[in-house]
This record gives sequence, structure tokens and C-alpha cells, in this order.
Amino acid sequence: MKIKSLINTFPIVLLLASCHPSQKAAVIPAGSHDKLLMAVAWFQNAPEMTALYYQGFNLAHERLDEAIANNNQFKPLAVVVDIDETMLDNSPFEVTLINNDDFQQGWYNWTAKATARALPGALEFAKYAESRQVHIFYITNRDNNEHAATVQNLKNEGFPFATDDHVLTKSDLSYSSGNTSSKVSRRAKVSENHEIVLLIGDNLNDFSEVFEDRKINNGKDAVEQNRELFGKKFIILPNPMYGAWEKPLYDYRNDLNNEEQTRLLKSKLRTE
Ligand SMILES: [Mg+2]
Repeated sequence: MKIKSLINTFPIVLLLASCHPSQKAAVIPAGSHDKLLMAVAWFQNAPEMTALYYQGFNLAHERLDEAIANNNQFKPLAVVVDIDETMLDNSPFEVTLINNDDFQQGWYNWTAKATARALPGALEFAKYAESRQVHIFYITNRDNNEHAATVQNLKNEGFPFATDDHVLTKSDLSYSSGNTSSKVSRRAKVSENHEIVLLIGDNLNDFSEVFEDRKINNGKDAVEQNRELFGKKFIILPNPMYGAWEKPLYDYRNDLNNEEQTRLLKSKLRTE
């Protein structure tokens, strides 16, 4: 999640202001995260959400079978998965943002609890991969100080490969060239000893650096240019609650109040 990169250097209130630009750093008006309400309600309650996750992991299962059948690699095969809103469900934390009811409960407190639940189909898929001797690498933009609790959370939910060397957090400098949210160097690290046959995530940045620059056409051109890869090597899952997709909609600003945010969003809607 985008939230976590800032926690090291900013107080929690400013941190949350950075994530959800409607918030002022000093005064957090109630209800100013109300844009989240519909998205979180959908994520937690819509059977369509459940079906989409099953669809994604069913596809992943098929693609993995194909990759195993066609395997001519000397290296062991691997699947790279994101964690947040890919394998684990953090929507209860998003609920606390809607209500603004407990800011001390921030993201770090949430992940430290290690109680996020597995998303539909995620656990079954990971166990299936393990049964076929395919490694799962969890490449997450959670910070290094969340590493132990994240491994514990995955263990608590029964995920295989919930080990230090298979969970690659953002600021683990052995896997990246600095405290970067880009996952490029961590994917490269996995590729040194494994053949990555499939990537699963809720954010295009979970797949390839070609999606990282969204300044032109919100990044949709890159999706068009790589359309054949979706449902093949890239399995994308739905996350309407947050993501890199928000940033261009807010013109990359994190100082907007709720009204300014709403005005910008409306200016980017089309009616035909
Ligand atoms: Mg994610």
C-alpha cells in the first residue's frame, strides 16, 4: 500500500493525509474519507468481488498448469504475488479510515495485529502451487519493520512459503536499490534463481515497470500495449479502495481538501 512508504518519516496524521488527500494534516474532519464508503462496501459485501477473486485465481491455476506442462527451465518455477488486496484483505483498516474514529490505530498497528484474512481463492492457489513444487514469492510494499508481522499473518492464515526469504518487503535493501516502491529490483532478485511464470496483483505496478508512469492517459496506453498479457502472465484483481490509479486523478497532489478532491474527480468523468 502507498501508505507505508511515508510512515518512517511522517507522523501518522500527516501520513494519512498523504494517502487520502482530502485530509488536512492538523484537523481531520469527520466523513472526509466518505469517498471510500462505496468502494469498501463493495469490497466487503458484493458477491461480485468474491467471484472476481475466484476468477483470477482460477485463471492463475490454469496458467500455472500450462507453465508446468511446458516447462523447459533448469531453474525452479515461481509465482510472484503481491500481498495487500491480493492475498490478504485489509479492508477492515479502510473502514477505520472512513470513520476516522481512531487515528492511533494506523496502518502499522493494523499490520502488527497480523489478523488480515486470506482473500477468496488466494490460499487454495498458493497451496496448489506448493503442491506442484512451484515457489510463491510475496513481493509487497509493506515496510521492512512490518516484515515479521506480515510473515506471521501469512502463517496464521495457512499460506505456504511464509518465510523470511519468500516475503520481500519494500525497504529490505538486500532486495532493492533503496527504499523504493518499485518492485523491479525485487523481481530481478527472484529471477536470479527462479523462473517467474506468473504474477498476481491488484496494482499494475505489481507486474512490470512499464506500468509505473501514469502521467499519460492515466497509464492506459501501457495497458493497451500489453493487453495480451492479462489473464496470461499477469492476473489482476480488483481494488476500488485505493491504488496507484488514484494519483493522476488528483493530479499527483496530496494537499487537496475534500471539496477540491471531489471537484477534480468530477472534472475527469465523461458523460458520453
Ligand atoms: Mg496490493
